[in-house]
Amino acid sequence: MIKTRQQNVTSAMWSTNGEALGTSDLTDASNNPFGSDVFSTSVQRERLPKDVFEKLQVTLAGGEALDPSLADAVAVAMKEWALERGATHYTHVFQPLTGLTAEKHDSFFEPDREGQWIAGFSGKELIQGEPDASSFPTGGVRDTFEARGYTAWDPTSPAFIIENPNGALLCIPTAFVSWTGEALDAKIPLLRSMDALSKTAVRALRLLGDNESQGVFTTVGPEQEYFLIDEQYFYARPDLVTTGRTLFGAKPPKGHELDDHYFGAIPERVLACIMDFENDLARLGVPIKTRHNEVAPGQYELAPIFENSNVGSDHQQLTMQIMQKVARKYGLVCLLHEKPFAGVNGSGKHNNWSMGTDTGHNLLDPGETPAENVSFMFFCAAVIQAVNLHQGLLRASVANIGQDHRLGGNEAPPAIISIFLGAELEKALEAIASGEGDGKTESQTMELGASVLPPLPKHGGDRNRTSPFAFTGNKFEFRALGSSMSLAFPNTVLNTIVAESIDDLADGLEKKIEGGMDIAEAVQEVVGATYNANKQVCFNGDNYDDAWHKEAESRGLKNLKTTPDALPEVIADSTVSAFQKYEVLSKRELESRFEVWVEQYTIRANIEAETADSIARTMLLPAALRYLAILDGAEISELTAQTKDLVEGMVSALDELEAANEYPDGVEGLDLAIHARDRQLAAMAKVREVADELEGVVADDLWPLPKYSEMLFIR
Ligand code: ADP
Ligand code: MG
Repeated sequence: MIKTRQQNVTSAMWSTNGEALGTSDLTDASNNPFGSDVFSTSVQRERLPKDVFEKLQVTLAGGEALDPSLADAVAVAMKEWALERGATHYTHVFQPLTGLTAEKHDSFFEPDREGQWIAGFSGKELIQGEPDASSFPTGGVRDTFEARGYTAWDPTSPAFIIENPNGALLCIPTAFVSWTGEALDAKIPLLRSMDALSKTAVRALRLLGDNESQGVFTTVGPEQEYFLIDEQYFYARPDLVTTGRTLFGAKPPKGHELDDHYFGAIPERVLACIMDFENDLARLGVPIKTRHNEVAPGQYELAPIFENSNVGSDHQQLTMQIMQKVARKYGLVCLLHEKPFAGVNGSGKHNNWSMGTDTGHNLLDPGETPAENVSFMFFCAAVIQAVNLHQGLLRASVANIGQDHRLGGNEAPPAIISIFLGAELEKALEAIASGEGDGKTESQTMELGASVLPPLPKHGGDRNRTSPFAFTGNKFEFRALGSSMSLAFPNTVLNTIVAESIDDLADGLEKKIEGGMDIAEAVQEVVGATYNANKQVCFNGDNYDDAWHKEAESRGLKNLKTTPDALPEVIADSTVSAFQKYEVLSKRELESRFEVWVEQYTIRANIEAETADSIARTMLLPAALRYLAILDGAEISELTAQTKDLVEGMVSALDELEAANEYPDGVEGLDLAIHARDRQLAAMAKVREVADELEGVVADDLWPLPKYSEMLFIR
């Protein structure tokens, strides 16, 4: 049997080499795995001296800096707990600007004077690490001669254990800073943005008559899409291994057109794998709630219950890591790339975002009482203004090379950022903005919550799957994230721009109240004016429709189609001013991110282009030539001519690609990214076009790459 067929047969005959989880009696609490690998608040309560525990909680609640004497006590308890679980090493996990998670392991153990191997772990080691880590991109923030980078413990995100068949590792979530104090990671700006939003929202809440809330935190609930394919195909495809996506592959006769995969029964091997990684995630305290088949064959989705943005973001990184790790136990590979298969739906990540007070009130929930409604309308208006003013930045926050295959491709929102409010909320805002309510009785009716406000959407109202930014009942759903992306930056952006708008609206509100207007009337005026000034960003219709693209243009909305188009928004004046005002990122820190992300785009494009060249030249072309030789022997000139044309087409496309892969002299930065997009990726597309045609012609047993119909359908 030929090799690929052989692979199909073995793939289909999978058997779990992971150990079966079995079924346990879940009415017995001791069988509940949730949080068992986490140094959680309850473990801390159990293990820390009472006064230490209490002081730690107060410090955390107040968001204050940690007293070093506490750190020693915490370190001892954490070490003991970790050693009991078999941990030999600890690591400060952080998120450098690559968007991935980084770790460097240190042993707990050191020899003492008598040559004994003793475990130790001090408060100092817990609080601060010095991984050096001079090879991470910094975008000019750090020169190598001053290459020192520090990790700093983030006590608000709990430590956890990662197991390996041969030992365990204590993971401590940390921030990563340069010795000059500049953020080199994704966590610091996220934490800063959460602070900024909390301060401004509490200020607004005071004006709105809430005197109890002391803090507001933002929440995130991501819905993660992913593919699982058999690992034999993965390793037979250098493009998947090197770039995460297939650079070649003809569309299979069957795709998702029959809709027979979406929400279908999850195949047994896949379900076994999902259950296994969900179990690991449960032990790590990640509250996964939902699982289902997605639209594309071989595609699935999972979603956790929402958490505060910082913890949710750390958990999301962990989720991606655990999914990829566990998949291998089942002979599967988990693909997180935004577009692993051309012509087949790609994968995204919906970012559900909201804000809640420390008293348990969701500020984007219309609520039961008129007072809650007034506050809801205020915060909604702030979000609308923020999204309108910073459309470009939001678009940039979800930009990466994988996304460029997806956004606007009728499977994901377009690159135009707009807000879906739903009919009810839009009606309410229109009524307020047009002053439709009777001016004289406004304050009274606001208090009664009757005539001024049409009924507010209580249960999310209608759905619009095509909108990039949709109100869904008690949260906004930012639907344009890519499946491989960290949540940190998009949420940093959301928090910062909404903080800015809340402040702006609060200024207006304050003036009116100081001028003697009552609160309800003042809110109504502020909300009405804000909505009128920003409603061009609101759109309830079909975002996939070409007509919308034209209309959006006439409304003056930005349409930043590719990553090189979008990234300059990261250093736009409006971005710098908002991020500086709230001390989330300085101009230099923003510039460093811009530089790193541009460079990543260019490098990834180049890796794709060189991989495509090598596969086409050393695998596909030889297969086509072998086939030509067979045809020559058969002496059927029509077949020979057809194949020969294609081969010649491939050769000239390859020449073009190789020319594009030579960087032009003196071109760098964004210009080089544009070269990568317009020359390298364009030339790759041409090579692919002929290659995919050849795939349909060359004898199957000669074709060296597994085909889409195999990778997507053999589960
Ligand atoms: P939908 O079907 O509208 O997408 P779900 O209720 O299934 O709605 O929620 C989807 C995601 O939204 C889940 O990950 C959930 O945790 C998250 N979510 C729900 N409420 C909030 C909130 N207040 N803040 C952030 N995320 C939320
Ligand atoms: Mg959703």
